[in-house]
Amino acid sequence: MRATKAIIHLDNLEYNIKQIKQRLAPHTKICLPVKADAYGHGAVRTAIAAIRAGVSYLAVASVQEGIELREAGIVAPIISLSLPILEEIDSIIEYKLEPLVIDESFINELNRTAEMQRKTVAVHLKIDTGMSRIGCKPSEAVKLATQIVRAKHLRLQGVATHFAVADSETEENRNFTRQQFEHFTDAVASIRNTGITIPIVHAANSGAVQAFPDAQFDMVRPGLLAYGYHPLKRGASSLDVKPVMELITQVVLIKQIRAGTSVSYGRDWTAAEDTYIATLPIGYADGLRRALSPGLKVRIGNEFFPIVGKICMDQCMIDLGSKPWVQRWDEVHIFGTDTRDNTAQTLADIAGTIPYEITCGIHKRVPRVFINECR
Ligand SMILES: *Cc1c(COP(=O)(O)O)cnc(C)c1O
Repeated sequence: MRATKAIIHLDNLEYNIKQIKQRLAPHTKICLPVKADAYGHGAVRTAIAAIRAGVSYLAVASVQEGIELREAGIVAPIISLSLPILEEIDSIIEYKLEPLVIDESFINELNRTAEMQRKTVAVHLKIDTGMSRIGCKPSEAVKLATQIVRAKHLRLQGVATHFAVADSETEENRNFTRQQFEHFTDAVASIRNTGITIPIVHAANSGAVQAFPDAQFDMVRPGLLAYGYHPLKRGASSLDVKPVMELITQVVLIKQIRAGTSVSYGRDWTAAEDTYIATLPIGYADGLRRALSPGLKVRIGNEFFPIVGKICMDQCMIDLGSKPWVQRWDEVHIFGTDTRDNTAQTLADIAGTIPYEITCGIHKRVPRVFINECR
């Protein structure tokens, strides 16, 4: 196996899920979003560990991601969060995925296909309360819920919405989330007033799990928190969660360079004095973004060393200083789970992005090594 690896600490995932559970009412279920290969952690192994830890629902972005889980033998209910196209309807039914639905014509088409296959499809009506991404208008919710209930081959399994700024602590954003919450509870109440039963009402992402306990309803959908990062950096109610992903590599070369020697493409770093440079077999194609140099320091043993010069596609260089104790093949910690280490949040801060983009960005060619399963 190559030196650059993502170690996936499934014990931390289970720990995080248990921490989240402690925040919920006993009847409230957890749906774990495992879209984008479980935010880069590996969808199948993550899903299996999560189900063992008490997650009852999974969510994927696309039908294809749902098929991957089903083909691995996962039987838990799976919501498919992005809107499918018509040609994906057969697979939704065949693989028993639960799509979000938002409009009359798609509901009709789904019902028609389900009838031909003599199956019933569980669906979730998605209401747009302020995200302006997908969802019906709150004013259409009763009409569409009624249509679903009347469709012989559909079952209304859930009603859902999604928050735009639940991870923000500003007064304005808290008010916006409060407003989304109210539009949603009103729409849910108006559906229930017609006598329709909704098995699962769900809305909360990680930010809402942390900051809006009222929005837990019957099920929550926290992704980021389960993977070990806080959507709200401060906040009195921070849950104790631990990062699940660790990214390591090894030194593959150490060489001395003279003062005045430049390092890497663009020659924008030059040694001020004689120094030792180590080459690491990790680059931006692995997900170590170019924007991390200058800025990121990586750990070897108890010491941190700066990446110097431009990060290349497959390699980068660090400055070991004039009297290095580091040896060829030593392990290098890019980010991890140890309290000393950088986390994906540290990298996100340096690169001007969010931890989601860091873990999702760890390329497929970086092997995932799963540890501490099933304790
Ligand atoms: C991705 C996603 C989530 C999870 O969001 P986090 O911020 O990771 O908790 C929840 N709901 C929907 C609809 C999503 O697309």
